[in-house]
Amino acid sequence: METPDRKQAELVARQEAAHLTAQGVRAVALTWVDNAGITRVKVVPTARLAAAARRGVGMSPVFDVYLVDDSSTTSTHIGGPDGDLRLFPDLDRLTPLAAQPGLAWAPVDRYEQGGAPYPACQRQFARRMTERAAAHGLRLRMGFETEWTVARTDGAELRYPTEGPAYGMTRVVDLSDYLVEVCDALAAQQLEVLQIHPEYSPGQFEVSVAADGPVGAADTAVLVRETVRAVSVRHGMTALFAPVIEAGSVGNGAHLHLSLWEGEHNLCRGGDGPYGMTKLGESFLAGVLEELPALLALGAPSVASYLRLAPSRWAGAFQCWGPENREAALRFIPGAPDDPEGANAEVKCFDAAANPYLVTGGVIAAGLAGIDAGLSLPAPVSGDPALVGGADRLPDSLTGALEHFERSALLREALGDPLFDAVAAVRRAEAELFAGAAPQAIADATRGRY
Ligand code: GLU
Ligand code: MG
Repeated sequence: METPDRKQAELVARQEAAHLTAQGVRAVALTWVDNAGITRVKVVPTARLAAAARRGVGMSPVFDVYLVDDSSTTSTHIGGPDGDLRLFPDLDRLTPLAAQPGLAWAPVDRYEQGGAPYPACQRQFARRMTERAAAHGLRLRMGFETEWTVARTDGAELRYPTEGPAYGMTRVVDLSDYLVEVCDALAAQQLEVLQIHPEYSPGQFEVSVAADGPVGAADTAVLVRETVRAVSVRHGMTALFAPVIEAGSVGNGAHLHLSLWEGEHNLCRGGDGPYGMTKLGESFLAGVLEELPALLALGAPSVASYLRLAPSRWAGAFQCWGPENREAALRFIPGAPDDPEGANAEVKCFDAAANPYLVTGGVIAAGLAGIDAGLSLPAPVSGDPALVGGADRLPDSLTGALEHFERSALLREALGDPLFDAVAAVRRAEAELFAGAAPQAIADATRGRY
């Protein structure tokens, strides 16, 4: 990776800060996502943005071993009170926040104080994997779907602001001002909304936005979530992104859509593989499919994730693929013949407790390994595997996923030891944190955290 030109960044930041100030933006929220899936932040006054671009903003590395409840663990390389890192804003993503007037946002890359890239920086991991794909002559388009549950909290009680049926127009009528404001805020932040709709569970909605590169898609996942949260607050409501709100019912996923490109050619179509995939496209998806049990430790990282990841809930609990199969962990979408962008694959088993940068990077690493090994996809599955069989169940607990992760030489190599060991330590500690807890107690403890 190129060494950033901090002097140049400082100049750009000075100009950007002047624009922001003219628009009434008084501070900038600098975010990154930790290994527990929580977006952490430092906020700087707009007048300090240039200084932040030149020298970074301090933050302890200990957050890399924080858990969902804000307690912490330790790992081989990271943990304890010592040390500091520098957060550098990515000025290309600097965005005034439509639902938080006076505030702008930018994601950060984390560096060591001496200027070296911090080896456990999740965003730089996603960028390294993007560059690894580029070295294969490939690029990826990715996009996360955002599902959430909107509620009013009355002490410990949750009340849903609409009682309309699943996917029902009643919900849109009940909350039309709110939903339009979500769309307006996203559009004002240069995000192209593709669709927004009520989902299955009480108070549950989904929004999807246009695809981007792997790092951009992860940044966008953060921005979409925080925007939905902010609009919800303005309407006296809380947006809950946790994998499960009510134990035993359909939860919130964060499905990852992806397509693989060589130049202007979408490798998910126009080939002679299954459903028109090219051989490279097929091998990439076969690599992802094969690694899914270990990838779950990145994409379904919470104890609560496994309360959601159950059969027959469209969460993708089986390690199989199928064309337009919503019960397969990997759903293939052939797309319309006249839409070159349309063909893509959707990894359904992931949720929003995940750090999206770890997800995009981990999926690329697995897909490229599939290409290197020349893998082919097994036979597709149609119908619900819980009823028709023909597919293995993915791990049904965080501990089960962690066992696969810890055995994955592929993910250890891709993440590098410091990041890999910190992720494993956080997963282990969260499994211990909730050992023996009843499903609804786990849901209650995590529902407002992500
Ligand atoms: N809410 C489901 C999940 O947990 C997904 C529903 C859908 O396919 O959109 O992933
Ligand atoms: Mg959905």
